[in-house]
Amino acid sequence: MPGGRASGSPLDEAAGAAGPHTVEGFKLLSDETRLAILLALWEAYDPEEGRGTVSFSDLCDRVGAADSGNFAYHLDKLAGRFVDEHEAGYALSNAGHRVVRSVIAGTGLEEATLEPTEIPRSCPTCGDPLEITYRDQRLYQRCSECEGSLGPSSPLRAPEGTVTVHDDFEPAGLAGRTPEEVFVAGTIDQTLALALVVRGVCPACTGSIEDALHVCEDHDPPVGHRCGACGTRDEVRARYVCSVCKFNVSYPAWCVTLDHPASLAFYHDHGFEGTYGLEDPETTARLWERFRRRQQIVDRDPLRVRVVVEDAGETLALLLDGELDVIEVEGPRPVAAERASLGDR
Ligand SMILES: [Zn+2]
Ligand SMILES: [Zn+2]
Ligand SMILES: [Zn+2]
Repeated sequence: MPGGRASGSPLDEAAGAAGPHTVEGFKLLSDETRLAILLALWEAYDPEEGRGTVSFSDLCDRVGAADSGNFAYHLDKLAGRFVDEHEAGYALSNAGHRVVRSVIAGTGLEEATLEPTEIPRSCPTCGDPLEITYRDQRLYQRCSECEGSLGPSSPLRAPEGTVTVHDDFEPAGLAGRTPEEVFVAGTIDQTLALALVVRGVCPACTGSIEDALHVCEDHDPPVGHRCGACGTRDEVRARYVCSVCKFNVSYPAWCVTLDHPASLAFYHDHGFEGTYGLEDPETTARLWERFRRRQQIVDRDPLRVRVVVEDAGETLALLLDGELDVIEVEGPRPVAAERASLGDR
């Protein structure tokens, strides 16, 4: 009901672009018996065994419903959307699984905290060791010595000293992991999320992603400090927003080139096989650090950003246009040749 204001229900008023279908979904869930049905079906579900189908009478018992007529009414409301009906009984539908899963992921099975813990990564600005900490449902990598790359005035509203923020690291990600494992899991998740958004797929809902480069028009960071205008060290950042669920994330523009084919060939030639995982925390910890890039706006109209990665005396340069496409690759070539070409500019 776009723009509709007739019903007077606060749900309809507030829904906006989320629309009546979403409102209906929330209404269906706003009842204790229905939530109990979803949780009981979740409890009965065994990933090893498959569906976890529960008969009507068994489900009624599990929920402890005294009035089976009333119970049947609520079950019927959920059927077709959050609950599937089979010959042998009832099971969570995919949407039902997602509802329960998202609450569990978002709240964790127990309270999720992580005190600041040093990690095997150094601050790109001052070289001191970084630490990770979890608060406000975000995983931060922070430097205790310098002011980091992102601050309170950045769009991510990060605490002082923040180097990176993992904006949607769920509390569930802390469960059963040491701080080191949390760090490695966060790095893997961020790497894969980046790989999805640069290909136009939302990591949260598979919806379509819209991307744009944002340039700080007043970028003027004093030496060794962040820019006062944008709160970051990056004059140009890539921003990705899901057109369906509003998932959004931003990275320095150079991140766009992290898994470009030319970059992958460069890593390979420099002895990095590109495999990473919890079983190889060392490689994973170095993943972003080793191939850290420099970026520079070389043209404003049309926008062109030159990204340079350097390793063992060689550089690879990739030129990005305003649509975040790599339109030119130079190298690999010796560092001296890159310096000479910078001198030409
Ligand atoms: Zn630092
Ligand atoms: Zn700025
Ligand atoms: Zn989405």
